[in-house]
Amino acid sequence: MNAPLSENMSESKLKTGSKSLRTPDVVIIGAGMSGILSAVRLHEAGIDSYTVYEKAASVGGTWRDNTYPGLSCDVPAHMYTYSFESNPDFSHRFAMGPEIRQYFERVAKEYDVLPKVKFNKELVSAKYVDNKWHMKTQDGDEVIADIVISACGVLHHPYTPGIEGLDTFAGTKFHTGRWDHGVDLAGKKVGIIGTGSTSVQVIPAIIDKVGHLSVFQRTPQWILPLAQKTYSDKSKERLRRNPKLAARIRNIYSWLFEKTFARAVVGAKLPQMLVGLASRHHLKSKVKDPALRAKLTPDYQPMCKRIIIGNGFYEAIQRPKANLITGDIERIEPTGVRTKDGVLHPLDVLILATGFKAHNFMRPMEMIGESGLTIDQAWEKGTQAHRSISLPGFPNFFMMIGPNSPIGNYSLISIAELQVNYILQLIDLWRDQTCDAIEPKPQATERFNEAIKGAMGGTVWVTGCQSWYLDKNGNPAMWPWTYERFTEDMSHPRLDEFNLRRNGCNSAEAEAASV
Ligand code: NAP
Repeated sequence: MNAPLSENMSESKLKTGSKSLRTPDVVIIGAGMSGILSAVRLHEAGIDSYTVYEKAASVGGTWRDNTYPGLSCDVPAHMYTYSFESNPDFSHRFAMGPEIRQYFERVAKEYDVLPKVKFNKELVSAKYVDNKWHMKTQDGDEVIADIVISACGVLHHPYTPGIEGLDTFAGTKFHTGRWDHGVDLAGKKVGIIGTGSTSVQVIPAIIDKVGHLSVFQRTPQWILPLAQKTYSDKSKERLRRNPKLAARIRNIYSWLFEKTFARAVVGAKLPQMLVGLASRHHLKSKVKDPALRAKLTPDYQPMCKRIIIGNGFYEAIQRPKANLITGDIERIEPTGVRTKDGVLHPLDVLILATGFKAHNFMRPMEMIGESGLTIDQAWEKGTQAHRSISLPGFPNFFMMIGPNSPIGNYSLISIAELQVNYILQLIDLWRDQTCDAIEPKPQATERFNEAIKGAMGGTVWVTGCQSWYLDKNGNPAMWPWTYERFTEDMSHPRLDEFNLRRNGCNSAEAEAASV
């Protein structure tokens, strides 16, 4: 532990006057980055009556589930940490996956979160009855809580494409999100479907080993080079001695990413142009063969799909043992992948780098809010939330990294920290007895989501590409404004946007707090 607890603490507390504070039973769903953070912040706010339910056997979320070769983070390591806990031990500017997992394990241990986690306990249902959430785990435990914080992450359910014949493949197949380390790729004919961020990390890491690599690309992607560097023992020691230096580095990177990527995606022309130039130059400088380069050149604007940042993909794909296949896949057969031109690409191993179901959030958990409203009904027309945090009809339920959070080429940790600060302020209203139930007003939620939709026109996500950013209606489930605006929005809840109820009615105090 290297820092005093939150500087946001005073911000997260609303004035409680002379009222006595009560302590809510809180359930946190998930022990990944945002679940650990929620636990640390609750403790810091004086709430230790929380339990974390984790479906797996250890903490770490996406950094536990993803173990594929080449796994790393394309956000600088010293920016990808909690503000209250730096990590002088990172070996590279862009950290490797196992180091990030270890970092979360260490924070969970040092901040005493681990004893509060119930492992191998997946919450499968939650129902709101009489101001309480009644939940069940997959093995039949019943859990009751005043407040639920969903910290399930975004990209955790691997997406398996419905390609004909996938189940008939006679070799070994697995998804990158569930890498099968029992399979030795040495000398094998390996196929990989997909050319997103994951594939671009996997391919350079396995190319030396495989006998032959067939890369099935449906859509080319823009790739920026990664300015990787190794940290020397001396520089690690410097950070160890001076945690303030780590904080400064975190701030500098955050400023840089905010001024470039975060602005480019919401319409700033100069950073868009710079990202475009750099990614085009990267492709041109690495791929000299015009025919191959044409195959690798996207026909959409850089950043429309999440821009990939990584090294080695262009080099790997030009190795004699690699083959970039751009023809559509017809079907999968026992011995390989057949493309629409009739060619069978024989394979021993098939790797699906086909991404995730990004719009599940806490589902498939069944959720029933007030008046029998189910989460599937609430999200029938697309996933949405009030300020990415809460939902009308689901009182005392809060989401970390919920719909329309500003995800993508920025540190999710910074975003989660802002969100938990906002959520704690809402929880304070329950604690100081201003209300027993708090939920956003439907009109406020609608207004917010209409504003979001209205602002999407200026973003890169609607400039003509398919991506996991888009929901089932083709609307980007993203934050269309600047990161600064998100910071501002998350600084304090606007209480006129919420219904606050006591004993089932809008109390005078609650009414007063709402105006
Ligand atoms: P992804 O970006 O969704 O890419 C999936 C790939 O699979 C795409 O190339 C897609 O083609 C292809 N695909 C899907 N269905 C297909 C089908 N039926 N036939 C052929 N191709 C198909 O998934 P990802 O690479 O796992 O990355 C997901 C996200 O994870 C990233 O955007 C990023 O946010 C995160 N991530 C981050 C890092 C990091 O360093 N921070 C690293 C890895 C991943 P189309 O493009 O044509 O749809």
